[in-house]
This record gives sequence, structure tokens and C-alpha cells, in this order.
Amino acid sequence: MLILKAKRNARRFAAMLFIIIFALIWIVFIVRAAKVRQLGWNLSMSDYLSVMKYSTPGDMLDRDGKTLLKAEDGKWTWSSRADKQAYSTLIGPDVRLSAFSRYTMLGASVPELLGVNERAVYNPLNLFKPTAVKGSDVLLTVDGGLQNRAVELLEDFPKSSIFMYNYMSGEVYTSVSKPFFDPVTLDGLVMDENDRYMSFSEPDGAGINKNIAYLRPPGSTMKTVTAAIALDYDSSLKDFSCECTGTATVNGIKIKCHSTHDTVENMAEALDKSCNIYFATLASKIPDDVYFPALKDYGFNDVITYGRYNVADGIFGTPDREGSISDTDKLLGSFGQATCRTTPLQMAVIYGHIASSGSSVLPYFFTADGKEHKPEPVHSVFNACTYKTCETLGKMLEDSVDDGSGSKAFIKGMHVMGKSGTAQWGDSRKDTAWFIAAIQNDSYPVVVAVCLDETSSSGTSAAPIARKMLQGAIDLIDAENAAENE
Ligand SMILES: [Zn+2]
Repeated sequence: MLILKAKRNARRFAAMLFIIIFALIWIVFIVRAAKVRQLGWNLSMSDYLSVMKYSTPGDMLDRDGKTLLKAEDGKWTWSSRADKQAYSTLIGPDVRLSAFSRYTMLGASVPELLGVNERAVYNPLNLFKPTAVKGSDVLLTVDGGLQNRAVELLEDFPKSSIFMYNYMSGEVYTSVSKPFFDPVTLDGLVMDENDRYMSFSEPDGAGINKNIAYLRPPGSTMKTVTAAIALDYDSSLKDFSCECTGTATVNGIKIKCHSTHDTVENMAEALDKSCNIYFATLASKIPDDVYFPALKDYGFNDVITYGRYNVADGIFGTPDREGSISDTDKLLGSFGQATCRTTPLQMAVIYGHIASSGSSVLPYFFTADGKEHKPEPVHSVFNACTYKTCETLGKMLEDSVDDGSGSKAFIKGMHVMGKSGTAQWGDSRKDTAWFIAAIQNDSYPVVVAVCLDETSSSGTSAAPIARKMLQGAIDLIDAENAAENE
């Protein structure tokens, strides 16, 4: 009897223990799921890998519904050889090689493609018998025709990039970045030191999307930001005048200009002639406690969240514990040199913000089947540039295209504003030529950022490329409007 009772007790104890352990596991799963929901959709790499085993993934298509990546046997296969190149740095390699990085569109859209939801990942029953999950197709906002046009325009520039987006709808029309790589053979892709994952810290930016993942000095395109901060601080600074004899000492710091501009009458002339001495002197007139916080409002030295994808955060100087930046960094950074670094996407957002007089939205790259995307207003993230400042600056930068140094970006009948830049890296690398242009007409709200790396070309030589891209966007908008009205 006693032995039987002891056996029964042991069995009862074992059953209780089993239930308690199972309940504990379940509680851990539920707490984790709640935490994931609270943090958004940011599951870990191993979570995705576990879902991939029992998911029927969606395909990836371009703006016209053309299939770029087809899902087969738990991985994605490129459907066309030509697309592989043009989209390589945008879409990225196999998600396992990019470690599901949100700097690649394949990595950023994995939750949609796999149909991942935390219920599937955190349901303990899936440990025994996984529930099948079905993913959605992902539609890139990028237009195949414009993507190819960018590839052609960059033919002579092995290291370069073009980023273009509709600043009122947020749709990215073009994102091309060179050097390309082959996402199948991986030729041209630089791996990290362990040879396991692709490298995002390659000094030449090989194989990565430079528009979002590569920090370049902005050169003179930064003068627009300095001008905006100055105008927000004191609008009468638009009439500030300055002498340029080619070199100057401002606050004890030696500033060199690329030319001798003599008397620069006002801010409009300074932007058009792109006078370094003017902007260093202008920056010296803005108190540090105005200038440095304002830079944050344009996304410099701040952590900005863009939504589903990641963008490298802009850098300006090396702030100390109090947020102060040295005078050298401040004055050289005011015209985009020294330690100032940015991405084409960040600059396109700033210029689009000015062109829209503060009513633009952040760019997005894709939508998942049937879901409408509501892009975030730029002013909610880039808390800078008043309506009046936007209007004043937009006009100055438009005059420069109509009848000044930016005239190669001129499009008849359009209000195009633009700014060139030639950025020095401060090391042995050759210059990067920039041109950023935006159309200010309501019907064609498009901004483009062209970067030509390691070139002897000046920023103005990137202007015709910007113009051809904007012209392509105008044609695309016209064609889509005509198709809608049919
Ligand atoms: Zn000058």
C-alpha cells in the first residue's frame, strides 16, 4: 500500500512538475511576444530563420508590377539578369548574408515577405507542429525605367549614386548606388573580417546602398543648411554682405575659398557663387547655443528613425559632453568640410522640405500587398526651417538655376531649385561631386541627389544628370496621371 501510494505521489508530482514547467515556458513566450509587440516588429535573426522554415514567402515587384525576386523553396531568386545589377545595392544579397539588415530592402521587408507575426514566432505549439504562414508580395515604389536611366547616366562613374523621391507622396522613384555587385555570384560584394556577413563599413562603399548606408562629406550642399539656420535665427541675415579675397581668418581659423569673389552682396549671391568665406563668417554670427541644437533639427548628431529601413545618421563635428563643437569643426562644417558627413537621402529630405515650404513627407521604398502607406511628415522629425525661411531659400536656389551657376539643371516651365557641391574627404580620396535639385511646382514635387565619387568633375557637372532624372520623373508622373484618367 505504502509503496503504491508513494508511486502515485511520484507520478502526481511529475505531472505537476510538467504542467508547471510548460506553463513557465508559455509565460516566457507570452512576455516576449508582448515585448516584441511593444518594440514594433523587430524580431531577432534566429526568429526570422525559424519562420522561414514554414513560411510561403511573397515575391518582390517593382512599381509596374514586374517581378524582380521570385520566392521559391524558401529563398528568393532573381527573375532577370539585367535587374540584378540595377537593383543589387538597393535590394541587397540573400538576407542571411546581410544579417537581415534594414539597410537592404530585402532585409527591411522580410516581415512582410514572410508574413511574420509574433503569434507564429511565439506560439509554443509551433515547436511541435508549426502553423504554415503566408507572406505578402512586396511592391517597391521604385520605377524600373528611371532606375535604368540612372544606371545609364552613371555609366562613366564607377563609384556614384542617384537618389530621387516624390517629396509629397514619399515614394522613392530611384535608388542606384555604385559599385554594383552580383547578388548571386556575390562578385563585388565585400564581406566582413569573419567572411560571414556583407560589410557595411567598406571605405569605398562597395556593394552597399550609398544613398542610405554611406556617410559622405556634403561639401557646399551643406551651405543651404547653414543659410536656413541663419535665416531662422535672424531673417535680416539674407542681406548680410562679406568680402572674399580667397583666404580669410575667421575667429582665428584660416578659411580658404575656391576663388576670389570680392564683394559678396547677399546670401543669394553667396549661394550661387558658393563662397566658403561668406558661410564661415555667417556661421560665426550664429551663437553656438542656436547653431548646434539647430543642426540636430536637420538630423545631424541625432538618431532619426525613418520607418522600416535604416539610414546612417548625419554627423557634424565631435560634440563634447555639453554638446559643444570646436570652432574649427563649426566653421569648416558650415560649408560641408572637416568632419561633417551625411547621406544623399538626408540631404534630399532637407531640400524637399525647403521646396515644399515645410509640408513634405519622409521617403519610403515599398508597400506590402494592398496596404496603403502613410508616410510621416518631415517636420515631425526634422524640426527646422520655418515657412518663411523655406520660401526665401527656395527662391534663392531657384534663381541660381534660372540664371546662375546651377543653370545646367534648368527645365523650361518648371521652378527648379538646385545646389552644387564639391566635397573633400580630408584623406587621399579624390573629391565627391554633388548636385541636389528639386522641382517646386505642385504637380511635380520631386527631389534628386546625385553624387559622383572619386572624380575630378565639379558639382556643376552633376547638374545635367540631375536635370535628366527630374525630366524622367516629370514624364513618369504625366504617364501615370494619363493612365489614371483613361
Ligand atoms: Zn569666396
